[in-house]
Amino acid sequence: MCPIHRIDINGLWYNIRMRLLMHLCCANCAVYPLKSLLERTKPVFPAFKVTGYWFNPNIEPLEEYDRRLDAMLELERLWGLDVIYNDAHDNSLYKCAVEEITSRGGTRCEACYTLRLDRTAMKAKETGADAFSTSLLISPFQKHELVREAGVKAGKIHGVEFFDDDDRSGWREGTALSRKLGLYRQNYCGCMASRREREAGRKLGRAARKAEAAVK
Ligand code: SF4
Repeated sequence: MCPIHRIDINGLWYNIRMRLLMHLCCANCAVYPLKSLLERTKPVFPAFKVTGYWFNPNIEPLEEYDRRLDAMLELERLWGLDVIYNDAHDNSLYKCAVEEITSRGGTRCEACYTLRLDRTAMKAKETGADAFSTSLLISPFQKHELVREAGVKAGKIHGVEFFDDDDRSGWREGTALSRKLGLYRQNYCGCMASRREREAGRKLGRAARKAEAAVK
């Protein structure tokens, strides 16, 4: 979708910028997509008016949620961003979504994307944004197609367009930039299951290294 909307007023065409509500899953993922959007927004070519939207209710435990929220607040301060915070740390919302989606054969991640993007689309509609998107789209660790599908579906339900900006090629640059900015970097996706999987993976890695060392 073209970021410039052309409107016809009394026979004259005007370019106006797209008001985009960007769901921010964490500061690290948000760095590159925000930079890329802001770079495309020059005074003479005002492509986007970007507002961030924080809604990630299932990051566990609470201390981890707070750490990621603080990182987002820090990025907001450093870059002078405009961010709306839906500061709801409420795992029951996620559990409900998981129950519903898995009963139809879906996965927990699908439920997680659906919940977050549904709320973002709702907020986009409420605030009069032209479209919404999500920083989840940049992560090579997320299921990209499922994120897109959840976004398109939420957009249809709430009558607002999903802006599908595939930023995966900017992942390395975003990582380097978030390190440079000194932002807190998490080592698991967010829910308790992802934390357990990460721990299990580390244990397996340690055991494999030990076994390898014993053979040498
Ligand atoms: S692994 Fe990540 S995307 Fe999947 S359910 Fe957990 S927090 Fe959500």
